[in-house]
Amino acid sequence: KADLELVSVTKRYGKTVAVNAVSHHFRPGSYTCLLGPSGCGKSSTLRMIAGHESVSDGSILLGARDISNLPPAKRGTAMMFQNYALFPHLSVTENVAFSLKMKGVDAPTRRKAAGEMLELVDLTPLGDRLPDQLSGGQQQRVALARALITRPQVLLLDEPLSALDPFLRIRMRAELRKLQQELGISFLHVTHGQDEALALADEIVVMNNAVIEQAGPARQVFNAP
Ligand code: ADP
Ligand code: ADP
Repeated sequence: KADLELVSVTKRYGKTVAVNAVSHHFRPGSYTCLLGPSGCGKSSTLRMIAGHESVSDGSILLGARDISNLPPAKRGTAMMFQNYALFPHLSVTENVAFSLKMKGVDAPTRRKAAGEMLELVDLTPLGDRLPDQLSGGQQQRVALARALITRPQVLLLDEPLSALDPFLRIRMRAELRKLQQELGISFLHVTHGQDEALALADEIVVMNNAVIEQAGPARQVFNAP
């Protein structure tokens, strides 16, 4: 388990300061929700941790290693996107194994690893299907398997449930939470939904206007009993 730490991280887009000298230590192996209104800097923070966006200032440490300038695949992080971003012409198994293929891992090893991941997300019978032959919830589980196959120390989730219908959303909350506990890795989940954060998180980090306004155990942040 590795500690994730933001040290005075800033993101500027031209004159816009999207993230303003944010520092935070994320407890290893915990489920953290990054909560706040649209435009407060949540996605920018997540994308900087993932390496999809450069930091303008400050540094990001994972397990005491400065990952700020590493390419995304070398950071020990993986990102699951809002719209799943599956490759439509690749089977479920091929989608899940994609990053291993990019790394030059041989086909039998890829198949085995993808099989294990599909089992983890309960999709074993669907490996040969194409993404458009799956329901929204199933596509989301493929996207999860595809992120987890890289064995990240931190899984980054950007509004992962927002495309789902309300019933599925509630079910997927429970699945995400269970998966995080089984794997014992850190999940960092961006949402603008207070109820979602309260249902999922060990810790809630509230952002507003590019800074962290509050952080702590879910019940403390919401002053709930
Ligand atoms: P959130 O995820 O909380 O909605 P974002 O991190 O997406 O917030 O955005 C924070 C601020 O940065 C907003 O003002 C947004 O318009 C701006 N922003 C985000 N991405 C870009 C970009 N690629 N170029 C310019 N401005 C951006
Ligand atoms: P979010 O997931 O935070 O809601 P958006 O939907 O606002 O993100 O943004 C989607 C994409 O558009 C991102 O790649 C982001 O970098 C870019 N973007 C967001 N705001 C701006 C902006 N003001 N100018 C340019 N690009 C932006």
